[in-house]
Amino acid sequence: MTNDWETIIGLEIHAQLSTDSKIFCGCSTRFGDAPNENTCPVCLGLPGALPVLNKRAIELGARAALALGLHINNQSIFARKNYFYPDLPKGYQISQYDQPFSANGELEIMTAERDNAGHPVEWRPMKIKITRLHLEEDAGKNLHEGLPDVDRYSYIDLNRAGTPLAEIVTEPEFRSSWQAYDYVNHVRRALQWVGASEADMEKGNLRCEANVSVRRIGDKTLGTKVELKNLNSVRFMQRAIEYEVTRQIGVLESGGRLAQETRLWDDRVMETRIMRSKEEAHDYRYFPEPDLPPLVVSDEFIEQVRSSMPELPEARRKRFMEQYALSFADASQLNSERSLADYYERAAEASGNPRAAANWVRSELLRELETAGLTAEASPVSPDDLAALVRLIDEEKISGKQGKDVLVEMFTTGKNAATIVEKRGLVQVSDTGEIDRLIDGVMTASTSQLQQYRAGKEALFGFFVGQVLKASKGKANPKVVNDRLREKLKG
Ligand SMILES: [Zn+2]
Repeated sequence: MTNDWETIIGLEIHAQLSTDSKIFCGCSTRFGDAPNENTCPVCLGLPGALPVLNKRAIELGARAALALGLHINNQSIFARKNYFYPDLPKGYQISQYDQPFSANGELEIMTAERDNAGHPVEWRPMKIKITRLHLEEDAGKNLHEGLPDVDRYSYIDLNRAGTPLAEIVTEPEFRSSWQAYDYVNHVRRALQWVGASEADMEKGNLRCEANVSVRRIGDKTLGTKVELKNLNSVRFMQRAIEYEVTRQIGVLESGGRLAQETRLWDDRVMETRIMRSKEEAHDYRYFPEPDLPPLVVSDEFIEQVRSSMPELPEARRKRFMEQYALSFADASQLNSERSLADYYERAAEASGNPRAAANWVRSELLRELETAGLTAEASPVSPDDLAALVRLIDEEKISGKQGKDVLVEMFTTGKNAATIVEKRGLVQVSDTGEIDRLIDGVMTASTSQLQQYRAGKEALFGFFVGQVLKASKGKANPKVVNDRLREKLKG
């Protein structure tokens, strides 16, 4: 029966922009400071205080908008969204309404359904319409836990009040929980990639809400929509949507009716529960913020921001596949973080063997990094050092198996491959100059054998090979020794 239904999902993401100070005052946005330490008359909402727009928030908002394929409007308007809540001392939030900072986005993501084991079935591109990305201020926080007399008092921390946010809203584009999952991951990575936001859901600087409804396949109108909140990770969001779709279909198939409401995900019991009915929905009475002029953004400014942006992750993934002949899976993994992609690209170029560099980064290096809890940026093995190791193997100076041990030692000691290979006596000497010197030494010390050989006793060839290898302490490349000996013994 479930196959008769279609799922419709729209997403709203709130991402905290990585400014040092708040959007309308100079207070710090630092996380974890003592409650209410970072406040002033503006963010406390004291009468007569006036907001001043933080230019950095505009720059980061522009980076976010461009990274997500949105069109930035040359003029946008800040508006007051009126509602009462204790963590909002002004009685309104400064947001944007009918003239947002940016709109009409088209973003291509890669998405795949997952099998029962959670493995992606088939990755394919999907175009997502992003309705808008607008700028607004965050509210403070009500605290209800871990403080004295919380049964009688509520505590309010206004450090977060006035922190700049980008709100990113999609059309009801998604037809499955995994599409929503892949989209949010795409947005997170893009925002981190361009430095617009830390986009860390656990820290709360990326928050996500899903509007979920179902309808019978073929129906033209949308079903009753339920808003899901309290989604503290992308995985929880995916599970909450799955749960909610099953719940809604169950209600409708048993002849019931759905109410438009907001539900919270509870990850301890893995289900959604009702928070409030939408019947009590607010009318926010939006009106233009009289204390701020319209925000005017020139084409020049937009171009300046665009030209300062790094190559975006999807473009880079495609380029890696073409330029370095990598598979989709390899190129995707190497582009999961910008520092990893930078690391790989440097190692690929320096090694002259991009395929081998990809294998070394993906398997050996990532395993060491994960064990040590480090990012590629903090790797004790530099990309140039990894490239040098790849070259040692390509040049047959050491074997691939020896290379793996060498990498582990490079990782723990910080020494380069050549030093470790030499210290361990792993070097295979293939340098003809050095081998020639060894041969000369052996020939000088073995004049009678040399005379016999040159007189026709070819069986002595093995004797010379043995002597040269011995003189090199077993490090000479036997093939090179053979070639050079044949040449030099002729006289
Ligand atoms: Zn302030």
